[in-house]
Amino acid sequence: MQIQAAIVHEKGAPYRIEPAELADPQDDEVIVQVAATGICQTDVHGRDDYYGTPFPCVFGHEGAGIVHRIGAQVKHVAPGDHVIMYSPGCGTCPPCLQKLPGYCFGARTIKMNGLLRNGKHPIRQNGKPIHGGFFQQSSFATYSLCTGGNVVRVPKDVPFAQLAAFPCGVNTGAGAVFNVLKPQQGSSFAVFGAGTVGLAGMMAAKLSGCTTIVAVDLHDNRLALAKELGATHTFNARTTDVVAVIKGITGGRGVQYSLEAAGEPKALRQAVDCIDSLGTCCLVGSARPKVDTSLEMVTVQWGRTIRGCVQGDAPGDTFIPKLIEYFRAGKMPVDRLVTTYPFADINRAVEDAISGKTIKAVLTMPGF
Ligand SMILES: [Zn+2]
Ligand SMILES: [Zn+2]
Repeated sequence: MQIQAAIVHEKGAPYRIEPAELADPQDDEVIVQVAATGICQTDVHGRDDYYGTPFPCVFGHEGAGIVHRIGAQVKHVAPGDHVIMYSPGCGTCPPCLQKLPGYCFGARTIKMNGLLRNGKHPIRQNGKPIHGGFFQQSSFATYSLCTGGNVVRVPKDVPFAQLAAFPCGVNTGAGAVFNVLKPQQGSSFAVFGAGTVGLAGMMAAKLSGCTTIVAVDLHDNRLALAKELGATHTFNARTTDVVAVIKGITGGRGVQYSLEAAGEPKALRQAVDCIDSLGTCCLVGSARPKVDTSLEMVTVQWGRTIRGCVQGDAPGDTFIPKLIEYFRAGKMPVDRLVTTYPFADINRAVEDAISGKTIKAVLTMPGF
């Protein structure tokens, strides 16, 4: 079928919206009419060739929309259903069997080799193959071809622009807190990086009953929003010795839990140094390959845990609907993070996402 897709023709080139052809779904595949899609740093890393995804390519991995067509074996969604396309796994390797598809042994290939899981190109332009299947969706397009295994049905009363924040950013931050840190009622928590992932983690910390909630960022506008969304203390790391002030507000001990959502070596060091002995730091910030940091060995030795987390440590099909229920109940106001842009303005939206002008940039497709 004919679609409009934002094609990146070569490394670092702008996204160009052009007509293209989308393949028919195989038995286990689904075509989704994309209504809205988030923009994530991973889409920009893909454009800039950090992952080796071949060009020309269509990126986008936070799609929400309406099921358009299904293959013969697909039973869990039907045409007309509202769905989110989430991060895929192979379904058969040990992490996938443990319901931890974020650590799928085949993740890199399935998400980033520019092909469908069956090895085919989903998109063509004038008969010439275009790389797609980015996270088995390539949602920077009016329609996406994905596997039945990375589509989940969602309620029809939630706006698509809000749904598009869930599959990667909100899922990642909230999952790191709910599924990895698991803070107890009355505990203390600090987040480094008040973007979508960090603020989602902070909302989860508040829902878990944390009573000291610290947000650290380099931008005062983000810290102001963090305060409105539940931070008890906010600090700008440009102007404050954050480890010292966090120890100061916790009787010299440090917080019990921290979340590194900035992807910065300095922030990770601070996120470890600001936790109490027996505390846990979870790293979700996405850094480029080969970025490293240093830690003081004795700090770690004193019973502290440092744990990484990908895609919220949960399968999207069960965890994302739970988060949407929090949103519907007014307990996770993700709409406060979202700024929408028409699909045609994709390059401006990406610029605003990179500069930090917006927290969660979401593209809305024509007609939605
Ligand atoms: Zn992402
Ligand atoms: Zn797997």
